[in-house]
Amino acid sequence: MATIIDGKAVSAKILENLSAEIKNLQEKPHLVVIQVGDNPASNIYVGLKKKKAEAIGIKSTVIKYDEDITEQELIKKIEDLNSDSNVHALLVQLPLPKHIKETNIIKSISPKKDVDGFTAQNTGDLLNGLIPCAYSCTPKGVLRLLKEYNIEISGKHAVVVGRSNIVGKPLAIMLLNNNATVTICHSKTQNLSQITREADILISAVGKKVIFKDMVKKDAVVIDVGIFKDENNKTTGDVDFENVKDIASYITPVPGGVGPMTIASLMENTVELYKLQSIK
Ligand code: NAP
Repeated sequence: MATIIDGKAVSAKILENLSAEIKNLQEKPHLVVIQVGDNPASNIYVGLKKKKAEAIGIKSTVIKYDEDITEQELIKKIEDLNSDSNVHALLVQLPLPKHIKETNIIKSISPKKDVDGFTAQNTGDLLNGLIPCAYSCTPKGVLRLLKEYNIEISGKHAVVVGRSNIVGKPLAIMLLNNNATVTICHSKTQNLSQITREADILISAVGKKVIFKDMVKKDAVVIDVGIFKDENNKTTGDVDFENVKDIASYITPVPGGVGPMTIASLMENTVELYKLQSIK
């Protein structure tokens, strides 16, 4: 039976340490979250970010726009926030309405305030093995979990299922930068189970139930990034947890695994960006 990786506990520890650190800073780090429209999931995520930030002493401002704001108006607001020295960290909640091109919005965020680590400079730095201003939050949270549980990455075969720009790709690069041998799989991958069975570390970031017991090597480390509602409206992940836990050495639950780490990483990034801007 696998050790259950407790993302909630690790996240709580990170937040507690950050809270103590923030008390000693000259001013409160300031996180600004821009939300466009009224997407119900975005309302929940944005609310959670604000609540967590304020709980640990980060100043948090949510700027909410109607669905019909133009791309130019949004970019103008981001540029104003980029040059506002009272703002240290900035993110635009995704997804955006169809008439706004997400890549144009991300491009307009200053890399120094890019708390999600999505800008070309920060992803490029990651790719080049340099230290970006901020690492993408979910992959950073996954790496932190592996380190907290003393799980060796170097030399291991890590298989990442999912290749999104926000999870799969940056996660694969971070694992590679930590000397894993990395395979990235996606919807067009043939013989997925043959590849996943080779994994010492198997990470799934798909958003559908795709990882079953017969796809997992004995004693593999299994990290489930996926989170969605099943047919009974129950929150679940990509991995068939009940069966896979019997053969994995470590496994993350959903909820309570990677999810809480994403928010902890966001708070860490906010404090790091604050320090980057205030320590000249
Ligand atoms: P995404 O942009 O939809 O990407 C999903 C990826 O899965 C794509 O690369 C897709 O391949 C691949 N895929 C789809 N069906 C597949 C299949 N049958 N076999 C293998 N690969 C398949 O999603 P995302 O934003 O990366 O998020 C992935 C999941 O993680 C979602 O459930 C999301 O809610 C969750 N998530 C959780 C957190 C957290 O904090 N816990 C944070 C972010 C995301 P193609 O590229 O070929 O289409």
